[in-house]
Amino acid sequence: MIPISKVVAGEVPEGDEVETRGWVWRTRSSGGIAFPILRDSTGVLQVTVKKGNLPDAQFDDSVKALVESSVIVKGKAHKDKRAPGGWEIQATEFKVVGFAQPFPITKDQSEEWLRENRHLWIRSRKMTAIMKVRHTVVGAIHQFFRERGYYEFDPPILQPNQCEGGSTLFEVKFYDQKTYLSQTWQLYAEAGIFALEKIYDMAPTFRAEKSKTSRHLCEFWMAEMEAAWMDLHECTEVAKEEVRFIVQKVLESNRPELELLGRDVSRLDACLKKPFPTITYTEALELIRKDGIELEWGRDLRTNEEEAIMKHFDTPVVVTHYPKAIMAFYKPVDPEAKASGPVAKCFDMLAPEGGVEIVGGSERDTSIEALRECLERDGENPENYQFYIDLRLYGSVPHSGYGLGVERVIGWICGLDNIKDAIAFPRTGTRFTP
Ligand code: ATP
Ligand code: MG
Repeated sequence: MIPISKVVAGEVPEGDEVETRGWVWRTRSSGGIAFPILRDSTGVLQVTVKKGNLPDAQFDDSVKALVESSVIVKGKAHKDKRAPGGWEIQATEFKVVGFAQPFPITKDQSEEWLRENRHLWIRSRKMTAIMKVRHTVVGAIHQFFRERGYYEFDPPILQPNQCEGGSTLFEVKFYDQKTYLSQTWQLYAEAGIFALEKIYDMAPTFRAEKSKTSRHLCEFWMAEMEAAWMDLHECTEVAKEEVRFIVQKVLESNRPELELLGRDVSRLDACLKKPFPTITYTEALELIRKDGIELEWGRDLRTNEEEAIMKHFDTPVVVTHYPKAIMAFYKPVDPEAKASGPVAKCFDMLAPEGGVEIVGGSERDTSIEALRECLERDGENPENYQFYIDLRLYGSVPHSGYGLGVERVIGWICGLDNIKDAIAFPRTGTRFTP
């Protein structure tokens, strides 16, 4: 069996016999001739089926085979300018393995219909291309950290506490007690670094997001890292290097997919050529004030402001030193920073072309007093975080880490309008089926 892409690439000499298989992607027929176009995981290829060149029953089947029927075809490879990809197979055998019912997905279906039929829609050329990019992104993340001496470290998914705010926790029954699905690996990663120093993982992450946006899933994959002895600046530089590495790998492996998705690849090429800037939250506010966008110092950046900031850049940008008061409990104050109020040693990375946050990270507070105070500020009982506080008692070290949203990065790289298409079966505030 020869994959379709090899035929389309001209790797089979003109006139040679080939056997290939796949699913009917498009089809038309008239009189004694049918033109099913087949697709497999590698591409699409036209087949010309002429009555008389193969048994009549097989010809009839080729006319009857509706879109998505699975078939095995034998015939001669033939150059044909009119065929998609420039090659076709002139069939001498056409075996239908599974006849398809009329396919429920036709042109111009609503987004909702496509989500309802997600199990079928993932075969589309668009979704196939995105899933291939995803494959590259995930592989690149593993490669990036492993090549730099990070160990893979797996946290528990059932956890007793919040880390990123109690309001987005998914509660799970744990026999007669309650527990929560992981919002992040962080509290456990901070334990892991005392054994392995530099660690990373990529894991399902759960947040019961309250607002419906094009950038939030309820179940997503986060690629996180944590490292002992690392300060904020070093941590932002690792994040920049990782994102650049991912983009580079996708450009090496997935140009045909990006083209199919209509992505302007030159925008991504630009990201490889320039350093990614770092600015502070305070500088970001000044930048957008010049565009007439006012945000009171102390308030968190929203989509609107992030978008406005990123109009000034064509590479990802790291924004550091957000106000301490609006940050998660574990982000420490930077005593040296000059701003209108206390700021934290933390950062987000925003992507160009829309300003989506793709990475969030920080140094981690090593002061037990500060941690207790912030947990109480958030209405948490510090006693429930004893294991975490314990880590500050036995050879505490400065350390930092960040989380990269896998779907956010895929969405940006592929130029998707909605993060939901960056994962095969999205879970959102309004859908957990199919
Ligand atoms: P946002 O402000 O966009 O909700 P966050 O500040 O809650 O993000 P972090 O807690 O810093 O995000 O998580 C680290 C990264 O995980 C984010 O930079 C983002 O890329 C990704 N992420 C966070 N929440 C989601 C979500 N609901 N769906 C998909 N990715 C997410
Ligand atoms: Mg959030």
